[in-house]
Amino acid sequence: MTTEDVKKVEDKEVRKQVVIPLLQHIGTVCEPTVDKKTDVLIGQKIGEGNDEFSVPVHSSIAGHVVAIEDRPHPICGSVPSVIIESNETNDTIEFTTSKNPSKEYIISALKDSGVVELNGYSLYNMLTSGKLIDTVLINLSFSGDVSSNCAPENIASIIEGMNLLIKASDAQQGAFVIQEDDKQLISAIESGLFDEADIEIFTVEQNYSPSMANLLTYEITGMQIPNTCTPLDASVLLSSASSALAVRKAVLEGIPQITVNVTVTGAVHNPGVKNVRIGTSIKEVIDSCGGYSGEPGKIIMNGIFSGTALSTDEVPVIKSTSHIIVQSSDEVLHEIPGPCIQCARCVDVCPVNILPGRIASFADMGMHDECFKLHVNSCVECGRCVYVCPSSRHILQLIRYSKTILQQLLKYEDETESFGCLSCETPCLASTPFISNGGIL
Ligand code: SF4
Ligand code: SF4
Repeated sequence: MTTEDVKKVEDKEVRKQVVIPLLQHIGTVCEPTVDKKTDVLIGQKIGEGNDEFSVPVHSSIAGHVVAIEDRPHPICGSVPSVIIESNETNDTIEFTTSKNPSKEYIISALKDSGVVELNGYSLYNMLTSGKLIDTVLINLSFSGDVSSNCAPENIASIIEGMNLLIKASDAQQGAFVIQEDDKQLISAIESGLFDEADIEIFTVEQNYSPSMANLLTYEITGMQIPNTCTPLDASVLLSSASSALAVRKAVLEGIPQITVNVTVTGAVHNPGVKNVRIGTSIKEVIDSCGGYSGEPGKIIMNGIFSGTALSTDEVPVIKSTSHIIVQSSDEVLHEIPGPCIQCARCVDVCPVNILPGRIASFADMGMHDECFKLHVNSCVECGRCVYVCPSSRHILQLIRYSKTILQQLLKYEDETESFGCLSCETPCLASTPFISNGGIL
């Protein structure tokens, strides 16, 4: 779906109830800062992180807290969540605006606002990591993010977000990365940039999802980054359209990350882009798009091949939700996997040169040590192997499963050890958690 295909519909409804997970980032679960029966306002902090990766979460509606309990999460099974019932008002906290913020103000605003990237990393944490940042890259090649956030009326705000990130990081330059066939977006950004000499546009051939951050950085800078490191280790701050908009809103308008733009496609009556309050159930979002058209078979969040299949439509929209795809039951039936026919198409397309089909087979048999030897952790979860497999094998799901098992084993054996990878055979000392399931662990 392109930006032309989608219909922009602002979601002005007052939600009756939201379920806001206390884990929407890489890091540990936030501690609630409210109790049951507390009255809350839109934008009020309801959870606070207590480790260096965690970020606060805020209420997206005005009302009162009716429960704090484990609820289904789109990625992490079941996590502690704050359930808020609306008082049917749009009462907010007092948002502090700023016209010409200093570097320190921007960083402080990002700390308070809980802005996270689509892969779950905190922008505040990245800006205060102590690593030199030379370049800010904003990835506008991920189709889910582009269709949700790159409408013409958002371009100026995305560029403002870029400038705020450059200022906060002391970067020398910025660049937008856009797919080369998205002429409309290239033209819109070019027009918006007119006299911004330190910001460029790079075009790429393919769609780079958030889990492909290191590959994208390699394509732009030529620097290889082991899978235990992040673009920051190459002095690159990698962001997205969604985050650039959130940064602008947090810094200039003082509004924390309480809504996201979500593209809804597939078997629904009125596909389009919705501005959704965080904590709204996926079912409500689909209902606001006219409901399911026919029998739903599968709901996928953030990308047909590299996204996450949801266990239920009762899970809430979170900060990293950008795309909801509904497949009909007929479409799902066509995807029943057959045996591997050893065609090696998955090998041909894999951007990190591993053996996807073979690793998946080992994962299916529970032979995770063999998966490790075949560098399963180098998989960047692009989904290309799934796309080309003539037998519709569940390659990526099996690879993710193996990565999760290996990570648990590794934690059990040694909390501080980290994996090596194809590009760097020795284990990297930067023990950044590797990205799995869209980034949130
Ligand atoms: S998803 Fe498949 S093609 Fe992509 S990096 Fe992983 S194994 Fe390779
Ligand atoms: S593309 Fe599918 S069938 Fe072909 S080798 Fe890979 S897993 Fe097997």
